[in-house]
Amino acid sequence: MNAARIRKPGRLSALCRMGIGVGVVWLAVAPVADAQDAAADRLARLQRDVKTLVDPQWEGRDILSPGLAAAAQWLRNEFETIGLQPLTDDFAQIVPIAQGTGMNVLGLVAGTNSPEAKPEAKPETSHVIVAAHYDGQGKNRVDGNVFPSADDNASGVAALLELARWFVQNPPERSVLFVAFTGEESGFLGSRAYVGAPVLPLEQCVAMLNLDTVGRVENDRFTVFGVGTAGDWADMLAGVNYAVGFQLDLVKKGSNASDDVPFVEHGVPALHLFSGANADYHQPTDTHDKLNYVGLSRVVAFTAELVDYLARRDTNLRFVPPGAESAPPAAGRGKRKVSFGSIPDFSQETGGVLLSGVIPSSPAAKAGLQAGDVIVEFGGVPIDGIVDYSDAMVSFEPGEEVVVRFVRAGEEREVKVTLLARR
Ligand SMILES: [Zn+2]
Repeated sequence: MNAARIRKPGRLSALCRMGIGVGVVWLAVAPVADAQDAAADRLARLQRDVKTLVDPQWEGRDILSPGLAAAAQWLRNEFETIGLQPLTDDFAQIVPIAQGTGMNVLGLVAGTNSPEAKPEAKPETSHVIVAAHYDGQGKNRVDGNVFPSADDNASGVAALLELARWFVQNPPERSVLFVAFTGEESGFLGSRAYVGAPVLPLEQCVAMLNLDTVGRVENDRFTVFGVGTAGDWADMLAGVNYAVGFQLDLVKKGSNASDDVPFVEHGVPALHLFSGANADYHQPTDTHDKLNYVGLSRVVAFTAELVDYLARRDTNLRFVPPGAESAPPAAGRGKRKVSFGSIPDFSQETGGVLLSGVIPSSPAAKAGLQAGDVIVEFGGVPIDGIVDYSDAMVSFEPGEEVVVRFVRAGEEREVKVTLLARR
């Protein structure tokens, strides 16, 4: 059999199938063992990169810490090894932070129709941004326990690196800018710095895709926030998902909780890709062994399809500004000081905040709240959705006792809860 004479499959569908570990399409082209090897190699790289980021010597990648600086250095080396093009010195963008500086790490895959590749007539100047934050929760200042921050967000960074490897080998028509943001956990510091001083004009950014907490796909479910930021997202995502087969939860509002927020504020259609909340979120138990690496591989395939589609489309997306109800938090809003311990199911948009669980021995657990409860009032503040909820949290002090009203099995109840200090 002459492999060279057989039509090759679409490269992305091949990637997807390898992502799910089945080399069906490659059967006619290459021995199935090759496709299986490629899928196994991908899994091994994802595992290796997550393990590198959660290594205890980097101490949870806290803001302004030596561990975070070491992670940045490692990322710059990876970007160089992968073959991304630096648009700045050594792939670095300095981010001013009170009492110091941090660093975003960024690099480009020049599109086949970009000015870099085609300096002559009518080059395509627009680009797609793929991002993930590499900072973590640091260390508990009381007991010194490290927060490995594996799902949030070593998983997103590992996926980003894998996507960069793919697109360096298979450049799409438009350019793709890969950005590892710093300071997300401290209030989107890296992404705010980027939109304030973008390395490519923001009006030429077709879309921003934010991989944050993508490592724990369960039961095929996958959530996409921000589908309301452009009129075309829903159809596009359904098409992209065809080859990957997730049960998609498409949420119109942004999660208002990650680096996509500053982009939406600047008129860029942006999505937050998310594999779901769990009891280990922002806990020392967010460890690398709990990640679903096959699931993460499928996230890579899904995002690759999406980037490829965005990079081929000849019209831009129609940006839809957030409505009043989903407006991003006002600038200068206070910082949240209390811990409650609820795990919201972010896919419910109105009618209260549905809990997908509570963190063991947290105030919420002690008050008897459980998965399935819907919080409708918190400390006297009516709660219609997640934005009301996170806004309400900001106004309380540790040690304060609040009344929480919630609905369980159709019946409204209330409990008193004493809030703890947030780490
Ligand atoms: Zn995160």
